[in-house]
Amino acid sequence: MAGITWHYVLKFIITGDAAVGKSSLLVRLTDQRFLANPDPTLGVEFGSKLIEIPEEGKIVKLQCWDTAGTESFRSITRSYYRGAAGCLLVYDVTSRASFANARSWLADVREHADPHLTCILVGNKVDLCEESGEGTSSGRREVPTEEAERWAEEEGLLFVEASAKSGRNVEAAFEQASRDILDKIKRGV
Ligand code: GDP
Repeated sequence: MAGITWHYVLKFIITGDAAVGKSSLLVRLTDQRFLANPDPTLGVEFGSKLIEIPEEGKIVKLQCWDTAGTESFRSITRSYYRGAAGCLLVYDVTSRASFANARSWLADVREHADPHLTCILVGNKVDLCEESGEGTSSGRREVPTEEAERWAEEEGLLFVEASAKSGRNVEAAFEQASRDILDKIKRGV
């Protein structure tokens, strides 16, 4: 990476219920891999990645923090949120409970994070809702796209459906949020 520099360093946090795929999204972003059976006790804590925002001519260094299993204790502290410019609020499109709980994760973010933080709602595991050709994996969706989209709009969140497994929209989610953050920086927000 010698010679590569970046224009901005943006801290991102990834929140949401246990098992929605937060660590998997981070591993996909930084390592282009997917682990079908990750060790839940070894949550990935941190990953970093350079992305380009071509319209802005800027290179952004993403520094992403995962809750690494602490979500079940709801013990996420202020230091986790400190300095975060972006947040991925993740639910699992095949779990209505995880979508319902996104409300309380958002309340937590709003309580602890900077009010200008850019938050993107990410409906993960969308691969499980696609026609597989084997007729086994369609129809597992519990959260309709339109419903999540509507809620995101009401709450002023960006929104995307993604899959850590296939890689679909993973980098795009971070890019979309980064674009919004750069826009806020430009406007002096
Ligand atoms: P976390 O607790 O939110 O960090 O969730 P993990 O990343 O540990 O993932 C929980 C489980 O869901 C693991 O078995 C993953 O392999 C699986 N998983 C994560 N993302 C996806 C995805 O996009 N599609 C599918 N089919 N499974 C996923």
